[in-house]
Amino acid sequence: MKTEVQEQIKKEFDERATDSAFECSFYTRDLAPVPDFLVDPLFKTRPDMVVRPQNTAEVAQILKIADENRIPVTPRAGGSTVYFNSIPTRGGILMDLNLIKGIKALNKDEMTVTVRAATTWSELEEYLNRQGLAAKSYPSSAPVATIGGWFSMMGYGVGSLKYGNLLSQLRSIKVVFPAGEIKIITSETSPSLDWFACAEGTLGIITELELEVRSFTPMCHYLLQVHETKSIASIITTLKDAAVKPYNLHFSDKYYNQAMRKLGFTAGQIEDANIIAVDYEGEESELKEAAEIVAAVVAGNKSVKMLNKNIALKEWEERFKALKLKRGGPSQLGAEICLPIEKLGLYLKEIDKVSSIYRLGLTSYGHVVDRGHLTVMTMFYADETKKVSYVIGLSLVKKIQDAGYKYGGYPYGIGLWNTPYLKRIFTPANLAQIRTRKKTVDQKNIINPGKVYKWPFLFHPLTFSLGCNVMAATRRICGKGEKR
Ligand SMILES: Cc1cc2nc3c(=O)[nH]c(=O)nc-3n(C[C@H](O)[C@H](O)[C@H](O)COP(=O)(O)OP(=O)(O)OC[C@H]3O[C@@H](n4cnc5c(N)ncnc54)[C@H](O)[C@@H]3O)c2cc1C
Repeated sequence: MKTEVQEQIKKEFDERATDSAFECSFYTRDLAPVPDFLVDPLFKTRPDMVVRPQNTAEVAQILKIADENRIPVTPRAGGSTVYFNSIPTRGGILMDLNLIKGIKALNKDEMTVTVRAATTWSELEEYLNRQGLAAKSYPSSAPVATIGGWFSMMGYGVGSLKYGNLLSQLRSIKVVFPAGEIKIITSETSPSLDWFACAEGTLGIITELELEVRSFTPMCHYLLQVHETKSIASIITTLKDAAVKPYNLHFSDKYYNQAMRKLGFTAGQIEDANIIAVDYEGEESELKEAAEIVAAVVAGNKSVKMLNKNIALKEWEERFKALKLKRGGPSQLGAEICLPIEKLGLYLKEIDKVSSIYRLGLTSYGHVVDRGHLTVMTMFYADETKKVSYVIGLSLVKKIQDAGYKYGGYPYGIGLWNTPYLKRIFTPANLAQIRTRKKTVDQKNIINPGKVYKWPFLFHPLTFSLGCNVMAATRRICGKGEKR
């Protein structure tokens, strides 16, 4: 990046722009523990400068300069993703969006709210609850994840089973395009809203979103202990297809619960078993019917036991603390896979096999995100201070991906690290379509380059697969750890 352009931006944005190497280095990582020696030879993750715009006009001002000078721009909000989605690959400008926050307007007649993009889900929920309203859904990273960031990642999470993904709840967004043009995008415009859902910040910068809200209603929570792993999918299916749709439905396998118990996080009443949590919201009559549905599931299933209501409530209250398990670390590696619900039993059986062969101690939990799918997170402990075994550990993440793929699953989220799986995520026609969209909107390829559309040279699926398999074989022969 040319010095005179950096100086121009610093002059215009004063203390909200920095090219200090120390400050810029804070933006070189996300939540994924990937060692420097693997990243630094391949990518320029340290931005040349960080700029913090406070409104749409300033975003446009920065993009115009970037466009004229062909400078890459990487948008970053909560930074709570793990595939280097918001980490630069070619330096340039890191656009920290966190000053663009707050509620702009509430329309109680239409039941919509307009928010600035970097408002977090917890901030929005707090505001709405004070008005007797609530968000229809939010990610389980709500305390840090922003509205714009979650939409850019597609937006499946708590509440999606009942209310659909975030795209289906959005009325409009305000987008700044690469050359600085500002447009309101709806499902009727060209490009339309769906272009931006899961574009992962590669088509433009979203500065405002108008989304639907719901009335704040009472909730009830149930926690089921399930001894037979093969029953998890059928119980989930019965619950999600019942007359009253759950607001939230998730499971954790017995290995996850054992690991939680070891760390002292599991309530005493929970035995050595799998768990299904189901939460409902709605009118009293709906909640009454939901209670009957859950009771019927328990009565009809010998392998299922209903746990105390207080424990169920605690499970709900802890919904934002999925990463607690990391405390058993030092680090955790894993993969999040979008999987057909009916294949869950087979997937978990396969994961058991992988866990045993590579002595990984795999643990899994997942959320039902729509009528057909759940997102399953399967993880294992690793130690990033031990370079060789950690790199081998990274290669074993592919074994989890392969187990998912065998049963119709694909990675949830792409960023940089999941680009080798692009052909699993998209059909050839879909991949061609999103590549055309990128070329149409961002001819100079300046917005968040190096992600989503193409794997970097060394990550070609063939060489990537070969490399991972060789390292996995090393672990199989020499690895320590417990067999299941
Ligand atoms: C404990 C935990 C739980 C999680 N639970 C969920 C979950 O339930 N569902 C889920 O989907 N994910 C989940 N995630 C992943 C992540 O938190 C979410 O995807 C989150 O919504 C990302 O928002 P963010 O503000 O952190 O975005 P960032 O990580 O900052 O960015 C995400 C992507 O969006 C782009 N971007 C961000 N803001 C904008 C904008 N305004 N305009 C254009 N592009 C933008 C970035 O360039 C990047 O590509 C979880 C993560 C953790 C650690």
